Amino acid sequence: MAGETFRGGVEPGHFKYTTEDAVEKMAAPSKVYIPMEQHIGAPCEPVVSKGDKVKLGQKIGGSDSFVSAPIHSSVSGEVVDITEYNHPIGKKAKTIVIESDGQDEADYSGGYDSLDELSSDDIKKIVKEAGIVGMGGATFPTHVKLSPPEDKPIDTVIINGAECEPYLTSDHRMMLEQGEEIVFGLKSIMKAVNCDKGVIGIEDNKKDAIENMKELVKDENNIEVMVFETKYPQGAEKQLITVATGREVPSGGLPMDVGCVVNNVGTAIAISEAIRYNKPSYERVVTVTGPGVNEAGNFKIRVGTLASEVIENCAGMSQNTRKIVMGGPMMGLSQPSPEFPVIKGTSGLLLLTENEVQFFEEKPCISCGRCIDSCPVSLLPNMIAHFTENERLEQAEEYNALDCIECGCCTYICPTKRPLVQYIRMAKGEIMAKRRKN
Ligand code: SF4
Ligand code: SF4
Repeated sequence: MAGETFRGGVEPGHFKYTTEDAVEKMAAPSKVYIPMEQHIGAPCEPVVSKGDKVKLGQKIGGSDSFVSAPIHSSVSGEVVDITEYNHPIGKKAKTIVIESDGQDEADYSGGYDSLDELSSDDIKKIVKEAGIVGMGGATFPTHVKLSPPEDKPIDTVIINGAECEPYLTSDHRMMLEQGEEIVFGLKSIMKAVNCDKGVIGIEDNKKDAIENMKELVKDENNIEVMVFETKYPQGAEKQLITVATGREVPSGGLPMDVGCVVNNVGTAIAISEAIRYNKPSYERVVTVTGPGVNEAGNFKIRVGTLASEVIENCAGMSQNTRKIVMGGPMMGLSQPSPEFPVIKGTSGLLLLTENEVQFFEEKPCISCGRCIDSCPVSLLPNMIAHFTENERLEQAEEYNALDCIECGCCTYICPTKRPLVQYIRMAKGEIMAKRRKN
């Protein structure tokens, strides 16, 4: 299967400087800032009040909506504030501030060594109560993914180990260090969706991870490690499905429409830990990298830890740091300051210096068509951006703006530096807002 690929895409370079850095556990900070919005769907409301004592892993936020995921404390200590605080998506959000007592007194224990005693519904319930969301950055509540309607049977579960974003290495390290948890998580998902075929998809630039995962599944006749060409955005859900199964998710469709469920390696580990140890999702592995950080590496970090403290833990940043990004350079979000918390979807913190950050003057489109060739979902990014710029949203919608996966390939490749993905993101937001109103 090596060498299989998808249409379009770009090769932005690897820059995976932290591949050899084993995951280190960062000490819990003295205070955590835990936002009530860490997933796609309904935000949570606090279920604790200022002054309450909480334990590690205790539920502190919840919602009655099915498409949501509860939020848990990442330390034991006292709730000292519930306030509006900086959120990495660029707004203020309701946030529970907890002062740690340094004890890490846990609210959870027990768990199951084996899946034998668990039904599909039991697994979905555990995943839901643990607050697990897509850890690759998409943050879609995982229990929803594991609950397709009866008329959408699942025949393939895919674990996404592509990690195609430049700079990021957290998934790579997890495949080397927590491979058994990934396999247990994959089997759990397969049982939850009543499917007997599992695939672990990895790009061919991660030879040691491929070897390790192959060794771990060598006696599993229904699990296969597939090796894919290193190309961005190989790790995008729909592209991964195409190369793994040859199926195309239709416009406006979901993986379940073609019999697939896709989860990131970090999500598989979170599922395994929830089942085996009853552990809620309150920490994650983050790659802290880029020429701006003094000591880069991969770290297990409590949700709610401020990026400024993470950077401090990495011996600070260099004076010529110009940009802090949550995530990778292609799909990550630039931050105005490091005073924002790590959330469940934070796969990386990237610090770029003036050498890497270039400011371009946007020039008119020269109709070269390179953006069209690079688009992995066969859109016309130049046209959608043009319609958006001229407030012709209906035409942007007709040109399937909502199918854009915001991979940024078009912007990356454009010789006149048109901010295409920014226009398309704007169009998507306005189209969705209009649909909600009608
Ligand atoms: S239009 Fe969207 S999906 Fe296509 S290349 Fe641009 S950002 Fe990616
Ligand atoms: S890549 Fe840029 S210049 Fe070329 S067609 Fe697309 S928008 Fe126009």
